[in-house]
Amino acid sequence: MNPPTFRSARLRNVTLAAIGLALCSSPINFAAKAADPPRILVLATGGTIAGQADPRATGAYKSGQITGEQLVASVPGLGQLAKLNAEQISSIGSQDMNDKVWFALARRIQQAFDKDEADGVVITHGTDTLEETAFFLDNVIKGDKPVVIVGSMRPATAVSADGPSNIYEAVQVAADPRSRGRGVMAVLNDKIEGARAVTKTNTTSLETFNSPISGPIGYVDTAGGVRFMAQTTGLKRGNYALPSGDQLPRVAIVYSHANMDAIPIEDAISHGAKGIVLAGVGDGNSSKSAIDALEAAAKKGIVVVRATRVRSGFVTRNVEVDDDKNGFVVSEDLNPQKARVLTQLLIANGMTAPGDMQKAFTATW
Ligand code: GLU
Repeated sequence: MNPPTFRSARLRNVTLAAIGLALCSSPINFAAKAADPPRILVLATGGTIAGQADPRATGAYKSGQITGEQLVASVPGLGQLAKLNAEQISSIGSQDMNDKVWFALARRIQQAFDKDEADGVVITHGTDTLEETAFFLDNVIKGDKPVVIVGSMRPATAVSADGPSNIYEAVQVAADPRSRGRGVMAVLNDKIEGARAVTKTNTTSLETFNSPISGPIGYVDTAGGVRFMAQTTGLKRGNYALPSGDQLPRVAIVYSHANMDAIPIEDAISHGAKGIVLAGVGDGNSSKSAIDALEAAAKKGIVVVRATRVRSGFVTRNVEVDDDKNGFVVSEDLNPQKARVLTQLLIANGMTAPGDMQKAFTATW
């Protein structure tokens, strides 16, 4: 049997309500009018959650094949949670996520909130760069209405696809008034994670999105509903403006390793990087030749941010590297890919002085 569509679920509700009224012998209290359902705007971008597998292939699938409307219609019971409106922003695997789609998403969300078209937004997204989109939006969307980003690890046509339950839970969170003021959240596999901390930690497992330093901010499941365990209000979020031209400045990530030389840094500079994020070893460190090359880059006015390739932990100023002398910034808790996004937004908003940038990177108030 096909899962009930949004429309058929509504029809069934109307029928059940009519039967309920006919059977009801007590007086009807017309004053107790049910509250209007929350209005949730679903913005689809593609990804595995919208992926279809060829039944003849083993494990292979194409992401971004199913539209947002089809996704919404395929989740049983979704129409009882909220009044849904789905729009397609893009149909791409998130490995192809780009500034143009980010800007389109940001503008549509802000418009929906400013014009009071929606009480919350759910974005369907591939999992590969989901954390970067979440963090980007967290830094540019104004207001306290909830924005929830959701993906899945298995395509929609897989046995035990995780997309429908993840979408259901994402709408549960977006529709809940207690979700206001918590910034952008990622909802997958029964957990609610904050945009700043969340990261993909496993290539294939359903249990892949984690917040290694802080843990999830809450949990959600169909029976128990939404349970928030932590606030995100102590964490910094910027209200940065989108630059004109639909493009963020070029910032390169350079990955550190044993036997590191200066070539990847010189390469980034020669390709016009305005900033370099070091995915350093340990506390955001690298070889002497790499650090010397970064110091030379900083002297030329290129923003240098030290992050770490280690999955968890802070990068701290002036431990083994003299950040004050070199003019470097440290990423604190932000992983290299998120440090890159913040560096781009700061440069785009005219901030390049290391002292000011360091204040913007500092994790807590
Ligand atoms: N590369 C795809 C994407 O990020 C597959 C990963 C996924 O969505 O789970 O869209």
